[in-house]
Formats: sequence, C-alpha cells, structure tokens
Amino acid sequence: MKGIVFKGNREIELMKFPDPTPGPGEVVLEIKASGMCGSDLKFYRAAGGASSLGLGSSHTGPLIAGHEPCGVVVAIGPDVSPKQAQIGQRVMQHHYRGCGACDHCSTGWMQLCIEGVAEVYGATGHGAHAKYMKCPARTLVPLPDALSFSAGAAISCGTGTAWGALQRLTLTADQTIAVFGQGPVGLSATLLASQMGARVIALDVSDERLNRAKAFGAHDLINPLQTPDVVGAIRDLTHGRGAHASLDASSSPEARAQAVRCVRTWGKACFVGEGDSVTLDVSSDLLRRQVTLIGSWTFSTIGQAQCAEYVADRGIELDRLFTHQWRLDQAVEAYALFDKQSSGKGVMLPS
Ligand SMILES: [Zn+2]
Ligand SMILES: [Zn+2]
Repeated sequence: MKGIVFKGNREIELMKFPDPTPGPGEVVLEIKASGMCGSDLKFYRAAGGASSLGLGSSHTGPLIAGHEPCGVVVAIGPDVSPKQAQIGQRVMQHHYRGCGACDHCSTGWMQLCIEGVAEVYGATGHGAHAKYMKCPARTLVPLPDALSFSAGAAISCGTGTAWGALQRLTLTADQTIAVFGQGPVGLSATLLASQMGARVIALDVSDERLNRAKAFGAHDLINPLQTPDVVGAIRDLTHGRGAHASLDASSSPEARAQAVRCVRTWGKACFVGEGDSVTLDVSSDLLRRQVTLIGSWTFSTIGQAQCAEYVADRGIELDRLFTHQWRLDQAVEAYALFDKQSSGKGVMLPS
C-alpha cells in the first residue's frame, strides 16, 4: 500500500509500505476517511517532521501521517474479543497507544499514560493517510450508523478536541463563549457550542473563516486584524462584563492572552491550540478576577464516543466542515492549500 509521509519542511512523499498484519490484541482497519487536522500543519512544517516535536518515539524510518482515522475492521489478530472488534464493523480510532493498564489508560486516556504515550498515530506511529492501518483493538470507538466516515474522522481529533474542551468548560446554554481561531477545531467548537444553545463570539484573522463561522452558528464575528481592542470589543458585546468562557484554538500568543483577559470575573478560559507561548500578568489577568485557566488535550475514548452520539442524536451536519476531499496522490496539493489556513477542513479518502 501507499502512505503519505511528512518529510519535514513542508515536503511530502507518497511512499510504499507493506500491508499491515495484526499481532495479538490488534486489528487492521481499511481506512475510509482520514481527516486533516490543524496539528498536522505543525508536523508538516517542522524541520524533522512530526517525530521532531517532542512526543517521543521509538519508531525509526518513514511514518505514515494522519491522526483522524475512520474506517472498517478488515482483519483481527489473536486475543481480541468480539466485544472489542468484529469484521466489517464501522469504527473511529482513538489515536494514541499507552500501556493499557495504568489509571489513565484504563479510563480511556491513553495519551496520559503514566509510562508516557507510546505512540501517537500519525505522528510517532503509522497513521491513517493510507489504505490500511494497524492498531490495538482497545483504541477502537464505534461509529454510529447515522454518521459518515468523514464525520467519524473529524470526531477522531478536531471535533472531538472541541467537544473535550467544551466539556471541561462546563459551558451552558445561557452563556457566551469567545472562540479564538476558526480552523477545524475552533469551527467545531463554534458549531457544538451554538448547538448546545450558547452564544458564540468567533474570532479569526481570516474573513473567509469568519464567514464560515457565521454559517456554523456564530452570533458575533471579530477579526483581530481590524479590531484594535479585541478584549474591549468582547466586553462591549457582553454588557461590559466579558464572556463567561473562552477557548483558544489559534495558539497565537496574543490571542491566548486575550482569551484570558476577555472572560468576566469568575470566568473560564481554555487553551487547546498546541505549541508557542503566552505572557500573562498573573495578578491582574487571573487571580484578582478569580479566573480559571484550563489546558485541554483532546479527549478520552469515552468522550469520543459521547461526542459521536451527541452529533448523531442532534443530527448535526459535521460533513459541512469539509470543504475539500482528496485522494492520497493529491497530498502535496492538499497540504499546500491547508497551509494557507484560510480554507475549511480537508479529508483524505484512501479507499
Ligand atoms: Zn498507561
Ligand atoms: Zn489533531
């Protein structure tokens, strides 16, 4: 089979790999949809590709990208119970491997494994930008019948991450949330939060992305490039108080500081975007206003299943997130477009 490899410095190669065979406790998926996530851009741009970004890896040699896997079980190894996986089953995959036995692994948080995350599929282990993908059966999450494979791919990282952050924020329908960055994660947060009944103030430096946010339920739009005082603008929209909650999916140092400063006294801010930094004045920005600052890294297998059920039960049209569908041999073009950060989300359809 062929798989997409990030070679570093925005170079991509479609390379040949042997078809995988499952070992004990493992399955092989035929990948029907493999989403393109914002963090893929970090892996794509990094000088040494994904494995250079401090996630740790024992893997040597080229790695298949793609960490939003969704497909069908086509092979099952020894020691997998029928409750874990069945041939033909439609599944998403929780894209981390841990020890499988510690407190965190056994509650579905493999990325928090006490021994360190052994593999992040698509970053430090072979991912889903290929026809087949091998993974432990315990990382599978059922895909509800009502959801497309592309919707399942979105939930397998970007949309699931937005869900996880909103859960951490305990957002309620009477609240206003400011969502910084309207890429795939931020746009998912805008969509889910507005579906939950909350009022969303969407922020992005791209008017194209802001227009999409409006179509996904955002109530108010702010382009920070055209707004000298972003925090003041959010206060003006909230009776001078500030938002109840904020979510940063942009990773921009300025946006992160604004995300903390724009919430009202007793408000909550949640950082989701990876990398880069932020400078805060701890006294005035946080403690003298009783602000809660949350870091949120993706979701558990249980959270992933809950997100999928929520999307299915509410009839939320997640497929609208995708503006581009690509074949594997279009990867160079696909990532060059995504790199501009003005388009919507892309998905690879390997089979
Ligand atoms: Zn563990
Ligand atoms: Zn991701």
